[in-house]
Amino acid sequence: MLLLGGTAEGRELAVRLRDLRDLRVVTSLAGRLEDSPLPPGELRSGGFGGVDGLAAWLRGCVPVLVVDATHPFAAQISTNALAASELTRAPLLRLRRPGWTANVDDRWLRVPSLAAAADLLPTVGRLPLLTTGRQDLSIFTTHPVCSLIDLVARCVEPPEPPLPARTTVLLARGPYTLAGERALLRELRIDVLVTKDSGGEATRPKLDAARELGVPVVMVDRPPSLAPVSVLSVDEADGWVRAQLAAR
Ligand code: NAP
Repeated sequence: MLLLGGTAEGRELAVRLRDLRDLRVVTSLAGRLEDSPLPPGELRSGGFGGVDGLAAWLRGCVPVLVVDATHPFAAQISTNALAASELTRAPLLRLRRPGWTANVDDRWLRVPSLAAAADLLPTVGRLPLLTTGRQDLSIFTTHPVCSLIDLVARCVEPPEPPLPARTTVLLARGPYTLAGERALLRELRIDVLVTKDSGGEATRPKLDAARELGVPVVMVDRPPSLAPVSVLSVDEADGWVRAQLAAR
């Protein structure tokens, strides 16, 4: 089984399946983060070289299952996994944790893309905290209006230099706590939070802190999930894998 990972759910599924007889699980990681916690078992790292490379990898392992447990915003690898599974007829499951839902007293402004978030941002606040990741930071730092205001960007690893003068980078890795997030928003006088709708508990406390402090949240919607078979939890993914094995 090829387990496309890079998420806590992918790691947890690898833990659950590690003692299954008759199943060899290979977790695949993009290999971008240097010290993220690794799942147990066999690992491979780095891109496959697009759909054709992924399909070739799968053909080398027939019979094979694919579980795509990548991050909800990792759209390219998910698109590739779907195309490669169709080419090779390898059964594919998409494991994608649910998105967040707003409470009545949350002030969330939903936008369809990071570009739309950048367009909206200057009308909502003057000192945003960006938690959308280093890869997409330039959408904000090169935006004609956002580039004129101070930006605070929290990233797991440093963005590519050079950084614009008005951008401050905080390096941090979740899970975060409500007390820590509250203190951060207060100390930096953050007046708008920008986040992807990643879902999950590890990064949820920033939303609770924003609600408590009345800070509005610009929430970027997820890309659509295209996989025909999709589940929301590790439990369900575990069940699917076992059912696939039992049916063979
Ligand atoms: P992406 O845009 O969907 O993928 C870009 C390329 O990176 C893919 O075409 C593929 O290269 C390679 N790749 C991505 N995930 C891979 C994997 N698990 N194994 C092997 N190759 C992989 O992905 P991304 O948004 O840059 O995310 C990269 C990884 O970080 C993902 O695995 C994801 O689970 C994790 N992650 C992403 C986010 C996020 O916000 N996007 C947040 C946390 C963790 P080839 O075409 O050469 O195969």
